[in-house]
Amino acid sequence: MSATPIATSFVQSESFIYVLYIIAFALFIQGLRGLSGPTTAVRGNRIAAVGMGIAVIATLLNPDEGNWGLIALGIALGIAVGVPAARQVKMTAMPQMVALFNGVGGGAVAIISWVEFRSYGSTYGDRTIDIAGATIRLGGGVPTYVAIFSVFAAIVGSVSFWGSNIAFGKLQEILPGRPISLGPAQQIVNLVLLILAVAAGIDLVAGAHSELLFIGMLIVAALLGNAVVLPIGGADMPVVISLLNAFTGLSAAATGMALNNPALIVAGMIVGASGSILTNLMAVAMNRSIPSIVAGGFGGGGAVEGAEGAGAHDGTVRSTSASDAAIQLAYANRVVVVPGYGMAVAQAQHAVRELTKELESRGVEVSYAIHPVAGRMPGHMNVLLAEADVPYDQLKEMDDANPEFQRTDVSLVIGANDVTNPAAKNTPSSPIYGMPILEVADSRSVIVIKRSMNPGFAGIENELYFDPKTSMLFGDAKSAVSEITGELSAL
Ligand code: NAP
Repeated sequence: MSATPIATSFVQSESFIYVLYIIAFALFIQGLRGLSGPTTAVRGNRIAAVGMGIAVIATLLNPDEGNWGLIALGIALGIAVGVPAARQVKMTAMPQMVALFNGVGGGAVAIISWVEFRSYGSTYGDRTIDIAGATIRLGGGVPTYVAIFSVFAAIVGSVSFWGSNIAFGKLQEILPGRPISLGPAQQIVNLVLLILAVAAGIDLVAGAHSELLFIGMLIVAALLGNAVVLPIGGADMPVVISLLNAFTGLSAAATGMALNNPALIVAGMIVGASGSILTNLMAVAMNRSIPSIVAGGFGGGGAVEGAEGAGAHDGTVRSTSASDAAIQLAYANRVVVVPGYGMAVAQAQHAVRELTKELESRGVEVSYAIHPVAGRMPGHMNVLLAEADVPYDQLKEMDDANPEFQRTDVSLVIGANDVTNPAAKNTPSSPIYGMPILEVADSRSVIVIKRSMNPGFAGIENELYFDPKTSMLFGDAKSAVSEITGELSAL
C-alpha cells in the first residue's frame, strides 16, 4: 500500500523534520547525562545512538535528498567497516580507534565543504567594491557568513583528518612514537602553513574563482595537521586526539551553519564542547598546559623504551613472591587496589575481581582507588572494572581515596606507575611534578605488581619502588594476580 501524497508531504515538511531534529537533540543531551556515571553509561550511549539514528532519518526525509543508491552504498560500507571494528577493538586500543573515527569525521567535513564550493560554481561570489582606487572582491553569490563557515570547516576538517591519522599511526606503532620535529624551525613552519591556509581562505571568501586555490588550501591544512601532530610524543596522543575531536566538532558545526542544518550545528557543538572539556580535564589531571602538550617533546615513547629504568636510583628494591603477598593480604583488615595501564594491557580485571572476592570472603574490606588518568584514556579503569562486575560503590575517585590510605593495611598496585609516583609531590625537577597522585605511600605497606623496573608513560623512575614499605611482585599482572588468588585459597 503506497503512502498518500498528503502523508508524504507531511513527513517531508520542514516542520516535521525540525521536530525530529529536536527529539534527536534531546536524546543526545540525555545520552550525555547518562555518560557521567558508570551505572548509566551504557544506557546513555544507547540513548544517544537512537538520537543519531533519528537525526539521520530526518536528514534523509529532506525532499532535496539526492542519489539514494550512493547513500545506501555509503551506509552499507560504514556499517560493514564500523560495526566489526568497534566490536573487536581491545580496550587498550580504544584511543587509536577514536582517532580513526574522529579523523573520518574531519575528512568528511572537509570534503563536504569542497563539494559545496563546487556546487556554487567554484566561487563564493564575484561582488567587488572600489576603495581608494583599489578593487576589492567581496562575496556575492553566496552570503559571506556561509563562505566563512565553509572555509573554516574545510581548513579545520583537513587539519583534524591528517592530525588524527598521525595520532592513529603513532598509537598503533605504524609510525615511531617519538617526537618527529624540525627542531626550533618547527614552530615557524607551522605558523607559515597556518598563514598560507588562512590567506587562501580569505581570498576564497572574497570571491576568488579558483578550485585550484581551494584544493591548495586543503593541502596546506593537511600539511599543517601533519606538522602539528608529528612532533608530539606517542604518549601524549590521547590528549591530542581529544583536542582534534573538539576541532572536528567545531568544523562540523561550521558546516551546519553553512548548510543551514541544525542537526550538524547542535551535534558539532556538543562534540566541540565535550572534546574541549575532556582535553582540559586530562591536562589538569596531568598538571600540564594544553599549549605545552601541543608544543610536544614529552614522554616520547619512554613508556616502551624504559629510558630511566633500574640503576638510576641508589636505594634497594625488595621483591616478594605470590605466596608472601597472599599472606600479607590475608591478614589485612583493609586493602586498596590501585589499577593502572598494566592491568589493562594484561586484561587482568577478571583475575583482580576473583582475588578481591576471595579477600572479601575472608572478611577483608576491599576498595579500588581510581586516578583520573590511570590507563590511557579517561574512565579506562572504570570501564574495565565494570566489565569484571566490580561493584560501583567500591570504586573510589582520587579525592575520596587519598584520605583513606592512612588507614589502609595493604595497597595493591597493579600495573600502575606514574599515578603513584611520589616524585609528583617531592621532586620539583620531575616532569610530573605537580600532578595529583594516589598517595599509596601513606598506607602501612604496598605491593606493586609489574614485570620489571621499566618506567611508565612519563618515562621516569618511581621513588615508591625504593620505599622500605614497598615490595615488588615481578610478573605479568594477570598471572601474578591469579597466582596470589591460588595461594590465598590454599591458606
Ligand atoms: P603507566 O605509568 O604508564 O605505567 C604502567 C605500568 O604498567 C608500566 O610501568 C609497566 O611496567 C606496567 N605494565 C605494562 N604491561 C604490564 C603487564 N602485562 N603486567 C603488569 N604490568 C605491566 O600507567 P599509569 O600509572 O596507569 O599512568 C597512566 C599514565 O598515562 C600517566 O602518566 C598519565 O598522565 C598518562 N596518560 C593518561 C591518559 C588518560 O586519559 N588516562 C591520557 C594521556 C596520558 P613494566 O613494563 O615493568 O611491566
